[in-house]
Amino acid sequence: MKTLDIIVPVYNEEACLNQTMQRLLELRTKFKGKLNLNYIFINDGSNDKSEEILEEYAKKDKNIKIINFSRNFGHQAAITAGLDYSKADYSAIIDADLQDPPELIYDMYEKSLEGYDIVYGKRLKRKNETAFKKLSAWGFYRILKSMCNIEIPTDTGDFRFITKDVREAFNKMREKHRFIRAMVPWTGFRSAPVYFNRPERIAGETKYPLSKMLKLAFDGIFSFSFKPIDFIFGLSALLFLAAIVILGLGIFDEMEEEYIICFALTLTCSVNLLAMGILGQYIARIYDEAKDRPIYIVKKSINF
Ligand code: UDP
Ligand code: MG
Repeated sequence: MKTLDIIVPVYNEEACLNQTMQRLLELRTKFKGKLNLNYIFINDGSNDKSEEILEEYAKKDKNIKIINFSRNFGHQAAITAGLDYSKADYSAIIDADLQDPPELIYDMYEKSLEGYDIVYGKRLKRKNETAFKKLSAWGFYRILKSMCNIEIPTDTGDFRFITKDVREAFNKMREKHRFIRAMVPWTGFRSAPVYFNRPERIAGETKYPLSKMLKLAFDGIFSFSFKPIDFIFGLSALLFLAAIVILGLGIFDEMEEEYIICFALTLTCSVNLLAMGILGQYIARIYDEAKDRPIYIVKKSINF
């Protein structure tokens, strides 16, 4: 029988793990006679009881596998490790807080049988998330889509089901700043959505504070688009034109010299800093690639 690995990144999820495990294990009944299930939990340097809870389950069930990181490497690194360790015919990625309904993995599997190598969960509504989170996510996915040349589905996180072919192609991509929800479509395999309303997390707090959200958003933009560089060119052309117009119209003739100097200095400084900042984002990424450090470090793996 074919196999499916369910990959679950975990960071300080002690409040969710028992319930999540229950729902995930119930999937075996749903898949009975169709796919054999294995579970790969990546403990991303949790400092609560996540590690102990997971190890208890792994002791009783050899199909529950654990990768313990040496520290917190981040959600994207955790998923990467799960996919690196996955050897099944299919792999599915799901959050540990039950915001991605596990039962949907079965629908994804059925959809894949229609000839799709990637089936992703597309969010219709998000329940009980802050207006800021909803609006920023809505805006971000659309800005990113407009900036990239590849088809990145909007309102889609990392909750997805992929075939071994996609996984093997994906695993060859070893970039350090990872934005998996765009890297998977980049592989170019046939994909389709499965729609769902996103429930609220069952317990605990989000592990994505604003700083992590921004980092992920920047990785999405700067790893997948050169549009920010085009923007610098556009801006410099615009300023050049503005300077000529101002000169021609003699706008500054009536103004005091100090104001003009002050205005010109502030404007050029801010534009220069913006341009340097944008270039810096790319250079920092080149620097990280050149160092070629591992994406994550495994402290201990269980049941592999
Ligand atoms: N996560 C992780 N490492 C991190 C942050 C999050 O492995 O540094 C996991 C987390 O345990 C969860 C998933 O990534 O399984 C998504 O995180 P969360 O639910 O907090 O994000 P949100 O749904 O609020 O965007
Ligand atoms: Mg969540």
